Amino acid sequence: MPNEDEDTTMHWLNPSLKRGSEYRDNDDDGNEHKKLNFGGRDNLTQFTPISQTQKPKATHTSSDIGYSDVYKGPCSIWVKHSTPSDKPLNIYHIGKIVTNRYKSIIEIKKDGRSKGLILFQNRQEANASLKDDQFMAHGLCTFIPEFKKTRKGVLKGIPTDLKEAELTQDIICGTKVCQVTRINKKCKVPDKDEIQWIPTTSVLVYFEGDFLPKEISLFHVITKVSPYVKRTTQCLKCFKFAHIAKFCRGKQRCGICGDLQQTKDHECDGITPRCANCQGSHKSTSKDCPIFKKYELINMKMAYENLSYFEAKKLVFNKSSPVLTKEAFPEHSKRT
Ligand SMILES: [Zn+2]
Ligand SMILES: [Zn+2]
Ligand SMILES: [Zn+2]
Repeated sequence: MPNEDEDTTMHWLNPSLKRGSEYRDNDDDGNEHKKLNFGGRDNLTQFTPISQTQKPKATHTSSDIGYSDVYKGPCSIWVKHSTPSDKPLNIYHIGKIVTNRYKSIIEIKKDGRSKGLILFQNRQEANASLKDDQFMAHGLCTFIPEFKKTRKGVLKGIPTDLKEAELTQDIICGTKVCQVTRINKKCKVPDKDEIQWIPTTSVLVYFEGDFLPKEISLFHVITKVSPYVKRTTQCLKCFKFAHIAKFCRGKQRCGICGDLQQTKDHECDGITPRCANCQGSHKSTSKDCPIFKKYELINMKMAYENLSYFEAKKLVFNKSSPVLTKEAFPEHSKRT
């Protein structure tokens, strides 16, 4: 079984699923979740599925050596309960374990309810903490999440006859390329209830380490690299964001009027839409919802600044910080 923290961001869709059906997804805690696939236009561009075994791996993984010298640092090490637990993780307990054992700790902070983060100045100390059995003795374990080990970037305008394997070989930049995956477009077959996948001229590149190059060279052509921004997840039970119906702790709502649906045969007049998130006069699935836009910004911050979901959410929802808009990410344009 793959380490649940190995992949926390990527969605691999199954092209055999039809619009409106569900697919499986990993949330930011690394739990495998089901996610609803809306029929909206934006969802027509997805990635071809690859199996777990084909997922790219950095040559150095957290389980063996930790951060290699390709990492710019400072180096963050994550801590969680070694067995799944409903109890929140108390970062003071982590602090107590590491105090007097490490000299280069800058800060210890929460990363969501169930994880903590130790920020080390010194890479060797960070790596040593990965093998420190004192954590295990306290029912905890240390790890580096996938987004710290590989960065994902998108290249546009890459001819479809160039194969993934040759791209992996021939992309030249200061960072090792772990894998390249062609981005396919999901299209409805005219007059049929079928979906077909057509290769686009965009490819997804996995770069080793925590640094995303601004550009690469491919056959002597300098090509811009854009951070890969993942899609915003919305629950089709309660219509809140960043989780899916299978793991929903909320109540079923009507996506049109926002009312709590007590019975399956809720009859919605559909005349006065009300958003379950912002109470605005639009459907809960509207892309114009200001709350939806905030969650989109979270995904952009995660991609551009290489942050965890919790770190990015704190920045977007922190009222004391400057108001963020999409314009803060000029490089990000609509996916092809
Ligand atoms: Zn929900
Ligand atoms: Zn309704
Ligand atoms: Zn809204």
